Amino acid sequence: MNTEFYKELIDKLNKKNVTLVAVSKTKSAEEILKLYDLGQRDFGENYVQELVEKEAQLPKDIHWHFIGHLQTNKVKLIAPFIYLIHSVDSVKLLKQINKEAKKNSRNIDCLLQVYIACEDTKFGFEENELKEIIQMNQAKQIPLEHTCIKGLMGMASFTNDLSIVKKEFNSLKLLFDQFAKKISDCPFQILSMGMSADYETAIEEGSNMVRIGSLLFGKRIYTDHS
Ligand SMILES: *Cc1c(COP(=O)(O)O)cnc(C)c1O
Repeated sequence: MNTEFYKELIDKLNKKNVTLVAVSKTKSAEEILKLYDLGQRDFGENYVQELVEKEAQLPKDIHWHFIGHLQTNKVKLIAPFIYLIHSVDSVKLLKQINKEAKKNSRNIDCLLQVYIACEDTKFGFEENELKEIIQMNQAKQIPLEHTCIKGLMGMASFTNDLSIVKKEFNSLKLLFDQFAKKISDCPFQILSMGMSADYETAIEEGSNMVRIGSLLFGKRIYTDHS
């Protein structure tokens, strides 16, 4: 873990009011604790099983962010403690989150993941689907007493061409601004975009929450999660 880099980064982000989610997937509890000891409290994971195991071992004041594709049948495993789910990509999932939040007598904050990349490997809503959700929400057709839609999340294309990335982030910011006025029940204020390779571009385009893994923890070595 790169302590100097972390300190510089958190300083820079604090000045810009950008929240850092340290993406700790594949990293050990010990590695997470090193960042925790420097004051970091927001951590992001994208596998349910891995998250549940880490949550059990680590301090309870950590804000756990779920950033990966979430299957509806796994929501119950994280519902008791999850802080923010960035990756809501279907109405079915939203309903399930609401149901499990209710069972746990709590509220779960969510972001809607929006498809902005020009590749078909990424999850998320298309713009027209997002509009439908807003309408359904306004018409109270989706039960959301135990969830709050707090904003949007998006992932740019995996490319070295930052002009493409910039354009994609800009399109998400425009959607965010457009919808911010329309969702009334909860403050719509989080725009989660930017990872190690493109967080600076994301911030220039209006991101206020970045999800950074490899720059903090070093490259990941993947194990089989299936
Ligand atoms: C892994 C991951 C990140 C962090 O990626 P890095 O390139 O390591 O910073 C951010 N967001 C999501 C959704 C991820 O799965």
